[in-house]
Amino acid sequence: MQYRDKKITVVGLARSGVGAANLLSGLGADVTVTDTKTEGELAGKIMRLSPSVRRALGGHPDDIFTSADLIVISPGIPLGIGPLAKARGKGVPVIGELELAYNVLEVRRRENAAGMPFLAVTGSNGKSTTTTLLDQMVKKAGFRSIFGGNIGNALTEEILQTGEGPSPDFVVAEVSSFQLETITAFRPRVAAILNVTPDHMDRYHSLSEYADAKARIFENQRGGDFLVLNADDPGTTAIAKEKLKGRREGPEVFYFSRRQKVKGIYCTGGTVLCNVPHLDADVTLVGSAEIGIKGVHNLENAMAASAMALLAGCPAKAVAESLREFQGLEHRLEFVRTLEGVRYINDSKGTNVGAVMKSIESFSDPLILIAGGRDKAGDFSELRDAVSRKVKALVLIGEAAGKIKDALGGVAATVMARDLKEAVKACRKMAERGDVVLLSPACASFDMFRDFEDRGRQFKKIVMGLGENE
Ligand code: ADP
Repeated sequence: MQYRDKKITVVGLARSGVGAANLLSGLGADVTVTDTKTEGELAGKIMRLSPSVRRALGGHPDDIFTSADLIVISPGIPLGIGPLAKARGKGVPVIGELELAYNVLEVRRRENAAGMPFLAVTGSNGKSTTTTLLDQMVKKAGFRSIFGGNIGNALTEEILQTGEGPSPDFVVAEVSSFQLETITAFRPRVAAILNVTPDHMDRYHSLSEYADAKARIFENQRGGDFLVLNADDPGTTAIAKEKLKGRREGPEVFYFSRRQKVKGIYCTGGTVLCNVPHLDADVTLVGSAEIGIKGVHNLENAMAASAMALLAGCPAKAVAESLREFQGLEHRLEFVRTLEGVRYINDSKGTNVGAVMKSIESFSDPLILIAGGRDKAGDFSELRDAVSRKVKALVLIGEAAGKIKDALGGVAATVMARDLKEAVKACRKMAERGDVVLLSPACASFDMFRDFEDRGRQFKKIVMGLGENE
């Protein structure tokens, strides 16, 4: 679609809404943004909007939906809301910001014939870590890339910043299931699904509905494209098999595995090896101990990023160097300090049961686990086995504290805390030399904090403020 002079309504004025509206306005579209929040509540966002963008705030007037040529929605907006349903009933196309970014770049690609393939990562957990590492590999290999998506910056914003300048070689994109719900043509050259475990069960009716959304990442892939899957995650391989069955043209599938030799990348006897085109079979990439990011889940992330980078044409040397250098992201199993022989770890981004399971499995020392927050309809009882084996005490906070206690209280000593400060104090009291205090909440943060970053930073501040011998 060409956007010039089109009437376009952008729904939801969060980061991706602002990015989409500004990009479209720059392309000559007649853009209106709408949000249920008022002008006053959105002051910070409005400041960043281009002056030519119209605003309909404090509600969603029907007419700007039904009379639009195109509607672009933010990932947080459910597709079923009234005015959207009306517009869709009238045949108005509805897309998300990811699809918009893809289309704009596709049009540019066709016009100047410069390729700009997407390397896209989805999964329940590990997306940000994998995408960041992949982007480093791509850059280390000397390519130019646009990097963004679900990771905190909007792709449309990044595209606007690159302007009409030299076209990047790749777009490295983190994509969520919400974003994939609103694609139509989005076709990544290399896609990966890291894992599919329950998350956002407050938005999806079933795990299969959630998995279906994730599987859309390869819906438009064709011959010449690559799909990277986790061979150790039965949920991921099952959905891919089902969706690819009977398809006339699809991507070539590669795998990564911690357990078995596969076509793709695998780890055996402390060595990471690869089986990908352009390289000899079973060639060694790195020793697993050399990889900068630690933990079993990070080995998976490291292998996924490596497979994608190699398939995108990065040399093995650049891939191996990035694996050694990359030290991981803030709030993901981030070491804070050691006090009186006790290590404190910030895993505030552990916001669902699957993530916390892997985080717990990454430690061999006894754990004191701080969990709780806003429940996303998670099934905490799935943690029973891991908690009974590794966690000596649970300290619970936030709205979900009672529900977690009911699910897990029977398998580890449990303390209820009013807030994070009280939780850290309780941990310190119980911890003995050699223990690990781990904040990995298995919940969203919005009941007590602005976001997971705010929760993680407050945790670090409290921990850094603990005096010696108090
Ligand atoms: P996402 O962007 O998908 O939320 P992150 O890379 O930000 O993923 O990691 C979020 C949390 O998920 C981490 O703090 C860790 O607890 C957990 N995690 C990371 N990678 C994986 C993985 N491959 N499998 C399971 N859990 C993971």
